[in-house]
Amino acid sequence: MAFTLYNTLGRELQAFTPIAEGKAGFYGCGPTVYDYAHIGNLRAYVVHDILARSLRCAGFEVTHVMNITDVGHLSGDNDEGDDKMVKSAGARGKSVLEIANFYTQAFFQDTSRLNIQRPDIVCKATEHIPDMIGLIRRIEERGFTYSAGGNLYFDTSRFPSYGELALLRLEDLKHGARVEVDGNKRNLTDFVLWFTKSKFENQALTWDSPWGRGYPGWHIECSAMSIKYLGEQFDIHAGGIDHIPIHHTNEIAQSEAATGKKPWVRYWLHNEFLILDKNKMSKSSGSFFTLQNLIDSGYEPLDYRYFLLGAHYRSQLQFSWDSLGGAKNARKTLLDRVKTLAGKAGVVPGPAGESHEAGAYLATFNKALEEDLSTPRALAELWGLLRDNSIKPAAALAAAFDMDRVLGLGLREAAAAALDRGPEDGELVREIEGLIAERGEAKKAKDFARADHIREALKKRGIMLEDGPAGTSWRRVEPL
Ligand code: AMP
Ligand code: ZN
Repeated sequence: MAFTLYNTLGRELQAFTPIAEGKAGFYGCGPTVYDYAHIGNLRAYVVHDILARSLRCAGFEVTHVMNITDVGHLSGDNDEGDDKMVKSAGARGKSVLEIANFYTQAFFQDTSRLNIQRPDIVCKATEHIPDMIGLIRRIEERGFTYSAGGNLYFDTSRFPSYGELALLRLEDLKHGARVEVDGNKRNLTDFVLWFTKSKFENQALTWDSPWGRGYPGWHIECSAMSIKYLGEQFDIHAGGIDHIPIHHTNEIAQSEAATGKKPWVRYWLHNEFLILDKNKMSKSSGSFFTLQNLIDSGYEPLDYRYFLLGAHYRSQLQFSWDSLGGAKNARKTLLDRVKTLAGKAGVVPGPAGESHEAGAYLATFNKALEEDLSTPRALAELWGLLRDNSIKPAAALAAAFDMDRVLGLGLREAAAAALDRGPEDGELVREIEGLIAERGEAKKAKDFARADHIREALKKRGIMLEDGPAGTSWRRVEPL
């Protein structure tokens, strides 16, 4: 059946038809690495992970690209306020690059603890300045820019479909929907492509450009990097709903202005917010939690992942310790059930074990995800499967592991632990499973050097991979 997604562009469920058959190019806006991600931000990345995993399970060859914003993101998306990176570096007495490196690592530690698979391409804004300058030049050559007060602006009045994604009406904007502070702008919605001397004497990172030494506006990085890695037109772009009216609206305008091709992106996916006490969880409001806060309060990262999967990504989700506690208990019951089944089965079946007995559950599970990523319905199918005593334990487990390729709840590790493989460190197991998957991909792409490298690197760490008919398994050996 067709994979369907709710497209913000058009505000409807649409069958997913990629540009190249069988492939899916997907760009998800990544973090601004000036501080720890809060658990609201992490909701966005769990959603991206579910999307990429679901597409892969449905048979698409996915290229998932994510940026790291380490320059140019001001505290207001509309070119107002301070540069988040510069401010954070100043407050902590560090350089911008030190701050960026530290919080990038912290971000990937969080995402790996949440079992979020690393995107295929992770690209840093500061390493793509020439790409941004190149794209801005194209926009300029096509007559969409003007200079004022030392900045180069995008002239939104020259782009007739501006605001289509957000259903923006110029009239509404005029009546105060946005606070306007930059007198250089000719139109309320214009935005900066390149800053020079006009802002931030203390800007740490600057580059030479045709418009003077300076640095890029925030929006241009996503256009430049997604076009570089996915092409001038690609399939899916995702981010939180806060990005609809400004960031994504501006990305569309500048990309389509530069290339002259429309639509730049076919499907726009936006996750709703995680909210706390009726407000969006955000750093600026001062009320937010990090993943480490949850861990310090006795929760495992995957309890939070389970909590998130219980809600559809387009619904607001209220965070409370009570509901996180409910998720923790539910996940424990789930893992206990898996351990019991593993004990009965006596083996940990291969991950791709096709089972006729459990086929109906798997089919409904896949359908739930193919219908706009309905994780609540998918979870319900997993529960139904595990509670169904008419299915043999090994078959139920094999199907559950198939489901966990998307859900990522650590079911396989739980089963392995129950069979006395020793209390494996969950993170290590996930890392190994990730590397096994990566090795499989490398082999598929005939990159045997990479595949061998993964095997040898694991061997050095005392992990031996064994290929068999049911897939690749691993066991501990003496480290080399
Ligand atoms: P940032 O690092 O601020 O650029 O945000 C990273 C991602 O988190 C973006 O896709 C935002 O839209 C998203 N986001 C921010 N706050 C929340 C929230 N409370 N709930 C869900 N997503 C959020
Ligand atoms: Zn972006």
